[in-house]
Amino acid sequence: MRLRYYADSDIREHHEHVLQLLRTLHDNHGIVVEIDRIDEQHGPITEFPGEMRASTPEDIYERDLKRNRALNQSIEPTPSEGFKRYGKFDIAGNIALVDDEGTVQWASTLPGYADGYGPGVEDRTAMDFLEDIATPPSNRVCVECLHLLDGDERFCPNCGAELR
Ligand SMILES: [Zn+2]
Repeated sequence: MRLRYYADSDIREHHEHVLQLLRTLHDNHGIVVEIDRIDEQHGPITEFPGEMRASTPEDIYERDLKRNRALNQSIEPTPSEGFKRYGKFDIAGNIALVDDEGTVQWASTLPGYADGYGPGVEDRTAMDFLEDIATPPSNRVCVECLHLLDGDERFCPNCGAELR
């Protein structure tokens, strides 16, 4: 499993915060991190400890999100509601959890901390997801193997690691 950032977030502070959290997760837990840069807004990304690729929202939508059954089960909005609102791509700023076969298992649907979100969407934003993982104990994913968790397990159902 690895974490993929669809860069860049519109707001520079969010973008830099996501990069910093990804670096922390890589350094502290050895988590594989990578970037698909689909909307370059904030200049070069330096000292990133993972692969970086330039891509387009169309290609990402087709490859990662559209008709993805795993994703349909793990997030509430459908991929088109979450990432192609009213026919317009809305992917940059989000984070995806990708399994070893390359399938996106979960993705955030809100870029996080932007104004205008009502309460109750924290579990859907990129920033909250990354902060939950970076702040032990993570109840979103197992930090050993990045398996998605329900939040009440004591041991990771995938690798058996103790979760607190
Ligand atoms: Zn695990």
